[in-house]
Amino acid sequence: MHCYDCAQAGRHDRDGIGACTRCGLFACADHSRVVRTTVQRPIGVIPMTSALPSRRLVCGTCRTAEAA
Ligand SMILES: [Zn+2]
Ligand SMILES: [Zn+2]
Repeated sequence: MHCYDCAQAGRHDRDGIGACTRCGLFACADHSRVVRTTVQRPIGVIPMTSALPSRRLVCGTCRTAEAA
């Protein structure tokens, strides 16, 4: 899978490193960010936040939208 943003710019040689967890499009390392995120685990009925962070990939467009 090639990076969507690179393809939009006319470049079709960059492989995506993963799919954006928000929009689902593939993005390369230059057009995406891996951000840390917490994981909620329900212990019985009480939501617990995991002590270890998880991660997710977001593309530049979604990252900008999240920060706006
Ligand atoms: Zn790219
Ligand atoms: Zn996205």
